[in-house]
Amino acid sequence: MADIIQLLPDHVANQIAAGEVVQRPASVVKELLENAIDAEATLIQLVVKDGGRTLIQIIDNGTGMSHTDARFCFERHTTSKITSADDLFQIATKGFRGEALASIAAIAHVELNTREVNEELGTAIKIEGGKVSSQDFSAVPQGTSVSVKHLFFNIPARRNFLKSQQVELRHITDEFHRVALAHPDIEFRFYHNGSELFHLPPASLKKRIVGVFGGKTKEKLVPVTEETRVLKINGFICKPEFAKKSRGEQFFFVNNRFIKSPYLHHAVVNAFEGLLKADTNPGYFLYLEVDPASIDVNIHPTKTEIKFDDEHTIYAILRSAVKHSLGQFNIAPVLDFEQNHNLDTPYAYRDKSAIQPRIQVDTGYNPFREDSSQHFRHTGRERKGSAEWEGLYIGLESKMSEGTSFSSVQLESEANVPSPHDPLALEAESQLASFQLRKKYIVTSIKSGMLIIHQRRAHQRVLYEKFLKMATLKEAVSQQLLFPMALSFSKSEIGIIIGLREQLEMFGFVFEESGDEQLRIAGIPALVPESEVGIVLDQLIAEAQTHGDQLDTSPADLLSRTMSKALAVKTGTPLNEASRQSLVNDLFACREPKLCPFQKPTYITMTESEIDKNFI
Ligand code: ADP
Ligand code: MG
Repeated sequence: MADIIQLLPDHVANQIAAGEVVQRPASVVKELLENAIDAEATLIQLVVKDGGRTLIQIIDNGTGMSHTDARFCFERHTTSKITSADDLFQIATKGFRGEALASIAAIAHVELNTREVNEELGTAIKIEGGKVSSQDFSAVPQGTSVSVKHLFFNIPARRNFLKSQQVELRHITDEFHRVALAHPDIEFRFYHNGSELFHLPPASLKKRIVGVFGGKTKEKLVPVTEETRVLKINGFICKPEFAKKSRGEQFFFVNNRFIKSPYLHHAVVNAFEGLLKADTNPGYFLYLEVDPASIDVNIHPTKTEIKFDDEHTIYAILRSAVKHSLGQFNIAPVLDFEQNHNLDTPYAYRDKSAIQPRIQVDTGYNPFREDSSQHFRHTGRERKGSAEWEGLYIGLESKMSEGTSFSSVQLESEANVPSPHDPLALEAESQLASFQLRKKYIVTSIKSGMLIIHQRRAHQRVLYEKFLKMATLKEAVSQQLLFPMALSFSKSEIGIIIGLREQLEMFGFVFEESGDEQLRIAGIPALVPESEVGIVLDQLIAEAQTHGDQLDTSPADLLSRTMSKALAVKTGTPLNEASRQSLVNDLFACREPKLCPFQKPTYITMTESEIDKNFI
């Protein structure tokens, strides 16, 4: 048989390599920013249009390239950064593979302008799909500017795969944050569609963090320092009370390179042990320095994972350094573990300035609920002081405490006229026979046997359907605040909220950006208590950050889910009998009572015969 193996032509090989290096516009941004840093720039400007779809340009004032290098840098495996295999064990630059420019040029229209400091004339090159279309001497500023236009122009599948401008911009911003945080001594400017998103002058590390994440960050930071023979640590952790639901502000840098490390993350979280509320993540900005020979940065094409020679030691040192800081700054004793955490306002909102005095709103008001004359017997409070917090759990108790009536599927009539919504046919006497198990489940009897409801998930389902209905019918009632509230967010958080403006307005939010890092909220959904607005928005940001890629599919759904999560009664909350009944009724009035909005079961049943079997 004839030989059939061939060497791939360069442009094909480059396109294949590009698939690894360039996943989305943010990958281009990362590579080009890193090149500018390797070129020792002191000012780096990032210009992006339409989330990077139309243009990504990076302008630096670094060393520039010679005429020959300017042409040569687009070839694969061309790099000035290593010359031999030994160098691989001493990497001090960001790049070293010599793949980025070749890959980017293979799948976009690239323009390179570059001039070395002592040269009078620089070079201008245009290259499209890996083919040079022009190369000239040119009077250009010192340093290098690379423009990448029409990314993926020759790979339609990839181009169509790009997410919304908002989503791509967020990925780009994430990369920008990482590079800017790793190099506080370099000045950065970042423009999107003509407006300046960031201007970060050279600064101390702390100032840079504040520059990136906003003025409110300053008071959250606690320094961490440690120096041992194998590892130097420096940076900041965020005080535990500022821990967030989102996983946003967690940064490890190793030798000034951003890395992801679940293992080291665990070390930090472990040091915070006992100081964090459930489901919250501590923020941190930790800079590790190790001997370059003791790590391998070569294991991942985009180099965000590295391998340490001695992971266990690094884990231990990191954990103790963080613990030490927490102790030193007297953070540990502040928290009182005896109190019921579910009843607390999350710490993060204590400092968000809600303006006093509050106007009185009917937090239980629900435009979809037809009042009926059905009254349940008041069973008294289960604990002292519950009145303040019970109002938070809309639809559960607030109506009751005001003495107004509420309707839902009526249990008493159930036995005679089964509700069309209720597949379970609750027993008439069940309204007297529900109890709460471990402040988590509601147990009641049904005709066929026993019903166990997960209180939190059930309430999520109830709220979710309410919100979704409001949004789809466009019937949301907005409650105008007499005194608008000002909430502080970071720039990128504000970006996310602005990106969802249309949907948020559909739900009854009325807001505007005021000043740099603030939102002025003038109206909120009638169903959302004023005190919960910050929590709802924070959760929304967290969701958008984690599930952002699906955002464009159904923002109304995402919003409804998020609000239900933020507002639903928590596990651990005592529910009195009236609240329990009300929740059971509302659940079975839902279209899909079986599952919570996150696709987990809301209740289980056990038939009498199933129970009987266990007694044989
Ligand atoms: P790598 O960074 O891995 O070396 P790249 O493809 O990103 O590979 O770049 C190839 C080479 O082009 C670099 O090694 C460097 O010599 C040169 N280069 C790229 N960008 C710049 C820049 N902004 N300023 C100066 N030289 C650059
Ligand atoms: Mg590079």
